[in-house]
Formats: sequence, structure tokens, C-alpha cells
Amino acid sequence: MALVSTNPATGETLAHYPVMSAAEVQEAIAEAHAAFEVWRTWPVRRRAEPMRRAALLLRDEVAAQARLISEEMGKPIKQARAEVEKCAWVCDYYAEHAEALLAPQRVQTDAYKSFVSYRPLGVVLAVMPWNFPLWQTFRFAAPSLMAGNGALLKHAPNVTGCALATEALLRRAGFPEGLFRALRIEVDQVEGVLDHPHVVAATLTGSTRAGAAVAALAGARLKKTVLELGGSDPYVILEDAELELAVEACAVGRLQNSGQSCIAAKRFIVVAPLVERFTERLVARFRACCMGDPRDEATELGPQAREDLREALHRQVTRSVEAGAELLLGGTLPEGPGYFYPATVLGGVRPGMPAFDEETFGPVAAIVRAEDEEEAIALANRSPYGLGAAVFTRDRSRGERIAEERLEAGSCFVNAFVRSDPRLPFGGIKRSGYGRELAAFGIHEFVNVKTVYVA
Ligand code: NAP
Repeated sequence: MALVSTNPATGETLAHYPVMSAAEVQEAIAEAHAAFEVWRTWPVRRRAEPMRRAALLLRDEVAAQARLISEEMGKPIKQARAEVEKCAWVCDYYAEHAEALLAPQRVQTDAYKSFVSYRPLGVVLAVMPWNFPLWQTFRFAAPSLMAGNGALLKHAPNVTGCALATEALLRRAGFPEGLFRALRIEVDQVEGVLDHPHVVAATLTGSTRAGAAVAALAGARLKKTVLELGGSDPYVILEDAELELAVEACAVGRLQNSGQSCIAAKRFIVVAPLVERFTERLVARFRACCMGDPRDEATELGPQAREDLREALHRQVTRSVEAGAELLLGGTLPEGPGYFYPATVLGGVRPGMPAFDEETFGPVAAIVRAEDEEEAIALANRSPYGLGAAVFTRDRSRGERIAEERLEAGSCFVNAFVRSDPRLPFGGIKRSGYGRELAAFGIHEFVNVKTVYVA
């Protein structure tokens, strides 16, 4: 049994990685736990040293790490380099701030002294997707390791090379041997890992289906989970929006990572007076987008990561058109090798169509017409998901009010596309999951929030 890594730009197999046996998995858990028992005793300031070295290594090796990402899942090389740089940023962020974020908090009570202390929890399992193969891992690992935990990574099989490269990099950075282990396992082995008493919690980034499955397994064992799941982010374009800015933000927000981002812009809800002009310009922008070899610096749109994912996306487009959406651009499978899918624009999208009701994980823009602000907000919120959302208006206070009070999502942006930032919490509501990553909230997810009361 092997995990297979395939280059999605060519369809060629890159590597086979043998799946770990049950005994090997047990050994890795034991190693991670033994390393955790030592690591937890290190002061936070000392933990920051390997974390800073990890950032340095990522920057030194940006070209090689980016090439690996690009080969395994097809990310355009420029975007792959940006992903590696962002991992370095999150390592630096937590190296610098963890001590303050984890500092005990004094609380005045009737005690002689009482305070809250953030203690390490144990070994945490991370189940991760392929779309940001380094970033998803570092986004979890940097805060969790700084909090004093150990980590086990079950990555998506098509990015096993990235998983092993991360494990090797963290070892070279000076983290204790075994503290972070990449498990080469299949989905049906996850339950066994969660069964182990030394695995105390789990985080999953991926689809709602996978999140619910892992949460059920963890819940049955009373182990905490954080879930970062899918999204169908609405972008509301109001009549006073700055059109050029809105079109560019929507295009970049949709096409980033070849459309395969949980927080990609997915539904463009445009109020009636702007819908024609917005549509015309978005189609022109999508038409100009350069699809091609992900190794090429000029490429904006690479292949989809797997053939089955491209097929699923194409079915969503076809079914939406059958249900009455207008195919304005793209929507046909290109000839030739690789799993490319063209930049596609659907007009006249309504609830009841897959492009509205479901998450589309690829370069497909769904344009939805709304009569006014109220209908636009109602349509934006008419989704089982609640990950990100954006609103475009020249009136910043109007935008702020809609972002803060009206849109149902974990992150709401005004006049910009949704992106994550180590300084700001990231996560969803509704079927996009629960819990938060990044910032102070992220480092507090996997700790024992301990009350100490001295009478
Ligand atoms: P996926 O199929 O859910 O896979 C994600 C990970 O979960 C993979 O490692 C996968 O392993 C594993 N997995 C799947 N079913 C499982 C189960 N029953 N038990 C245990 N593990 C299981 O998702 P994907 O297609 O790789 O990624 C795309 C999805 O992830 C989209 O919905 C996207 O929106 C979401 N996502 C969310 C965020 C966020 O931060 N909210 C970020 C990125 C992606 P196998 O591959 O071996 O099945």
C-alpha cells in the first residue's frame, strides 16, 4: 500500500510512499509523546529559538520548497513562493509573541492570589488538505508547538512530499526529535490514532464531510477538535462600489491558488445598477488570465490538483448551466495533459443551482443579481457556509456596518479580498467549522486554560 504523489500539470507519477503499519504509527505516537514530555518543560522563550530557525530555513530554502509545492499540487510558482514566505512569517510571529500570549493572567478574586495559566495539552493530531500544503501545516504547528504541544500530521496523500519536507525542516530547525511527525497513513487509520491516550486533540482543515467524520471520532473519545472547513464566500458589490477595485479583488480572490482556496471569492452578488458593467469587466479580466505551466513565472492559473476534483468542478458548472445559468466564459475541458480547467464565468446564478448552493473549488465565478442591498445581504447569507465574506462600497462606514453586523461569516472584509494574517483570528461559523486559528485565539485552542487559586 502506498500514498501516490502525481504532478497535476502532466499527470505523471512523482513518487510512491509506503503507508505506515499500525506498529510504525504507534511508534511515532510514542516518540512524539516522549519528545513532548521534554519540550513542555522548555520555557516559551527557549521554544522560540527553533521556531525562529524554522523561519530562517524556510526563507533560505524558498525556491526548493516552492518547487515541491508546485510539482505536487500544481500551484503557480510565484504563489508557491508566497506560501513559503507566509509560513516563515507565522513562525516569526509566534516566536515573537507567544511568550506574551501565554503569560499568566492575574485575576482579582477573594483569594490571596488567583490567575489563569496556559499549559501545554499534549500531542495534537492535524489532518490537513493539499491546497496550501505548507501553510495549512504551519498555521496549526507554529502556535501549537509554541504552546508546548507535540504534533502529528496526517496530510493529504498527494502532498506527502511536502509533509515529509516539513518534518525534516522542523528537525533541522532544532525541535526535539520526534516532536513533529508526519504520519504516512490512510483515512481509515485516523481512528486508531485518535484512540491513543497520548493523542489529546485534533484539528482538521478540509471538507465539511471530513470535518464531521473526524469530529465524531474525536467527540466519542471526548477529545477537543478545531475544524477549518469549506466555504462559499459571498462578495457583495454595492451600487457605489469602485468598480475597477472590486473587479480586481474579485478576480484575484477567485483565481488565487487556481480557485482552490477555502476563502476564495465564490459568489459575486452584484446589485442591479452595476451587474452588467461588473460582469463585462470580470469576464474580460478572467479572459486575460494566463493559464499554463505552474513553473512559469507568468502563470496565474495552474492545473487543478487532482483529476477527480476537476471532474467534480466541471459537473457543477454543467449542472448549473442546465439549471439556467449563463455560461459567459470557459466551462470546457481543455485538450492535452494535466488537469487544467479554464477561468469560467457563470451569469444569472440563483439559489437552487450548484454554483450557488455548493462550494466550487476551482476558477469558477458565479455572478448573482440582487435588486438592492437588503436582497444582496439575504443572498449572501443564504448558504450553509460561513467562512469569509466581502463587501464593496465607496462608503467605508456602510461597508463596516454590513461587515460587522450583517454578513454571517468568520471573516468579513471591506473593499478587499479575504485573506488570512497571523495577527488576526481565522475560522468559520455554520458548516465552515468552529474554533479559530492564528493570533491569540489560535494559540489558546490547544492549551489547558488552568485556573490557579492560592488561598
Ligand atoms: P478533504 O477531502 O476533506 O481532505 C482533507 C483531509 O482530510 C485529507 O487529509 C483527507 O485525507 C482527510 N480526510 C478525508 N476524509 C476523512 C475522514 N473520513 N476521516 C479522516 N480524515 C479524512 O478535503 P480536500 O478536498 O483535500 O480539500 C478541500 C476542502 O478543504 C474544501 O472544502 C476547502 O474549502 C477546505 N479547506 C478549508 C480550509 C479552511 O481553513 N477553512 C482551508 C483549506 C481547505 P485523504 O485525502 O486521504 O482522503
